[in-house]
Amino acid sequence: MQNASLKQLSAALAAKQISSVELTRLFLDRIKALNGDLNAFITVDEGFSLAQAKAADARLAAGTADPLTGIPIAHKDIFVTRGMRTTCASKMLENYVSPYDAHVIEQFSAAGTVTLGKTNMDEFAMGSSNETSYFGKVKNPWAREAVPGGSSGGAAASLAARMAPAATGTDTGGSIRQPAALCGVSGLKPTYGTVSRFGMIAFASSLDQGGPMAKSAEDLGLLLNVMTGFDPRDSTSLERDKEDYTRDLDRPLQGLRIGLPKEHFGEGLGADVAKAIEAALTEFKKLGAIIVDISLPNGRLSVPAYYVIAPAEASSNLSRFDGVRYGHRAPEYGDLMDMYKKSRAQGFGAEVKRRILIGTYVLSHGYYDAYYLKAQKLRRLIAQDFKAAFEQCDLILGPTSPSVAFDIGAKAADPVQMYLNDIYTIAANLAGLPAMSIPCGFGNHGRPVGLHIVGNYFTEARMLGAAHQYQQATDWHTHQPQGI
Ligand code: GLN
Repeated sequence: MQNASLKQLSAALAAKQISSVELTRLFLDRIKALNGDLNAFITVDEGFSLAQAKAADARLAAGTADPLTGIPIAHKDIFVTRGMRTTCASKMLENYVSPYDAHVIEQFSAAGTVTLGKTNMDEFAMGSSNETSYFGKVKNPWAREAVPGGSSGGAAASLAARMAPAATGTDTGGSIRQPAALCGVSGLKPTYGTVSRFGMIAFASSLDQGGPMAKSAEDLGLLLNVMTGFDPRDSTSLERDKEDYTRDLDRPLQGLRIGLPKEHFGEGLGADVAKAIEAALTEFKKLGAIIVDISLPNGRLSVPAYYVIAPAEASSNLSRFDGVRYGHRAPEYGDLMDMYKKSRAQGFGAEVKRRILIGTYVLSHGYYDAYYLKAQKLRRLIAQDFKAAFEQCDLILGPTSPSVAFDIGAKAADPVQMYLNDIYTIAANLAGLPAMSIPCGFGNHGRPVGLHIVGNYFTEARMLGAAHQYQQATDWHTHQPQGI
């Protein structure tokens, strides 16, 4: 059961081969057995999950079930959930219980899914290795000495270890795709504005986007069908008709134009990763796709632009954690200013403080034009590169990450090395484009490699279709870590 696709689980529930309570139990038992070692979940509440499973069983019995009714889902601990604490992996929110649900959580509730627990992540989603969580590091199920990637590392690890059949993540600069790549699972960041950010704790609002993580592209499509939808409480939520993201799954790839950005295959890319990506491209050609050479000349500027824009927005977003309204308050303090200072000094970890300092600096009078404004101009150039590229091709393929999962601690002391992990993923966030990662082989030490697919705005169905066709022809997405 733990290896079943969402479609198979849905069919088993409908046929009464298994109840939602039994299915939820199965995954809760796996979490119990594995989480002590992997640390993929921050919060699990069996009573809470089983009550939802019972309600789902009632819906299944009444014949009012939706496709995903009764299926347990692991939610990233950045989506606020009523009745189950939401920490964002920070001491600041260690004991925070939201009075309302995020829009994404509401959507899943309406669909009748079961919240399996809240997954570990980098603190406030800032990181690429899950080493910055206040609740401890997450281990990669493929190699316990390696990071799972980040910031949605708990979600990716929970899928790789089959502790959950599906999960949610968020992606500001690669946080769905990079951990998916490093853990050998699939993940999609939709077009900006497609998934509501209401109740998704803000990091960098113009870049943040929620999305699904799962074992296959087909599962991603089913999850995306639930997650999307207009929400007036998010001012950037797009008012579009509901669409079926699984509609192109069976569409042949004959004539699909795949763009290869020459900048993504040069210096900095691991030879092991390059080899797996090339093999994947051969497979796509066999399926009828046409390869087109393209260029994204300003892509190299995406990391520097991002590390101005994202911290700038974070410094503003995180000002709400002041010890007054919610979150940690220092137990002892003098006047109000002292209370702010002590609460924030105690509540935030080192990486979050670094981002707040950078952000405050680049927005300050005298530096705004030199850094922030310039970064916004670069952002526009990066988006224009994509616009030109999509005149020549339908999808852009390349590596998700320059290397396979690295060892815990290997990059922790060097923020710039850590930031370069997202060299291939960040540009899609800056441009607001949909992008995904699917497993395409193994590199050094037998660790998974992810294939990055970027599409034009609103082409998620086509991207998922291409990924599904590839997954029908290959079996990389079915591989599992040993001993799990
Ligand atoms: N790794 C990037 C960062 O540290 C992206 C994080 C994310 O997408 N949330 O900011």
